[in-house]
Amino acid sequence: MTMKQAMQSGNRRSTRAVRVGQVTIGGDAPVVVQSMTNTDTVDYLKTAIQCAELARAGSELVRITVNTPEAAAAVPKIREHLDRMGCDVPLIGDFHYNGHRLLADHPECARILAKYRINPGNVGHGKKRDEQFAQMIEIACQYDKPVRIGVNWGSLDQDLLARIMDENAGRAEPKDAIEVMREAMVTSALESAAKAEELGLAGDKIILSCKVSGVQDLIAIYRELSQRSDYPLHLGLTEAGMGSKGIVASTAAMSVLLQEGIGDTIRVSLTPEPNGKRTQEVVVAQEMLQTMGLRAFTPMVAACPGCGRTTSTFFQELAQSIQDHVREQMPAWRLEYDGVENMTLAVMGCVVNGPGESKHANIGISLPGTGEVPAAPVFEDGAKTVTLRGDRIAEEFTAIVDRYVARTYQRKIAAKS
Ligand code: SF4
Repeated sequence: MTMKQAMQSGNRRSTRAVRVGQVTIGGDAPVVVQSMTNTDTVDYLKTAIQCAELARAGSELVRITVNTPEAAAAVPKIREHLDRMGCDVPLIGDFHYNGHRLLADHPECARILAKYRINPGNVGHGKKRDEQFAQMIEIACQYDKPVRIGVNWGSLDQDLLARIMDENAGRAEPKDAIEVMREAMVTSALESAAKAEELGLAGDKIILSCKVSGVQDLIAIYRELSQRSDYPLHLGLTEAGMGSKGIVASTAAMSVLLQEGIGDTIRVSLTPEPNGKRTQEVVVAQEMLQTMGLRAFTPMVAACPGCGRTTSTFFQELAQSIQDHVREQMPAWRLEYDGVENMTLAVMGCVVNGPGESKHANIGISLPGTGEVPAAPVFEDGAKTVTLRGDRIAEEFTAIVDRYVARTYQRKIAAKS
């Protein structure tokens, strides 16, 4: 039994598996990390570069905005540039309002995208809504593409909301406004999926999402969605915000659901800080899954918070430089060494918890706190192997980590021969 299955404690129905390019979402597949570009898609070079950066950071799917004929025309060029860079990350097209026209008018775009995101609240109004939704589903069938029915509370289908409100008003005990909104979100996703299947799209080509910006709303909606359907679910807190607020809110909401076995792919919708990296959302998604024990991506560095016993900044700098080093090395290590992503490291600030925590990690270093002898014992697999001293502790410790990796993890090439 996989860890994911073990955590699915009975309240989660089994999901169908959906193939998106070479990636599987749902079923027994591990939870997939995805992200979205914030470049102008028309600028195909810039967009291809950002897609490659996100993929290199660990995004297994990348979504791009397809909002104009020029953007649709840029999609094949983006794919071409990615292929030239050796990056095979599947591209997802994000459509609103005019997706039916763009997909019909740009067959290469329709063919190249690995999945279409359709927002049922933004496909048109009245009779046109059904026609335009049907047109997109027919194109998905024609090109054998999966779709995500992506409901968002900021663009909830207003006709459907009005209908649910009317139904609610007729109840003996009407629900409150929040419950009605949650019900409308879930109904929009489920009715759209049923309509897509009626139109001929196979059930294993459909992924659902219902994104809101409130943590409790998200948890309630996805619990309901997971009880009422067995489509794979894309989790994400929409408009999560910037910096620590966005990270905390996304993690608070998604970790509760993931712990219950709900969610097959995640995206962390962070607003980048000025000059901040778009790849941060990928790092946060990976760290969320890894700290929960659901997946392993990159060696994790445990570090104490520091206190009055650590008066210099050296300890923080070493923790940061080791974390950066393993993240930078990981793309190469991943290709070369089996299981290196499971390695644990510890960088500790003094003797109080330093040796103990370091012994629990694969490699740990206990730096001297204030008043201690200026020596830093290093522990490898629980045993002290060397004591570092002097000005080159950071370099020497980094070299010890590299040697440990080369010595401990099986070389993939050697394993094949
Ligand atoms: S290990 Fe030492 S430096 Fe780090 S928090 Fe604990 S007492 Fe403070």
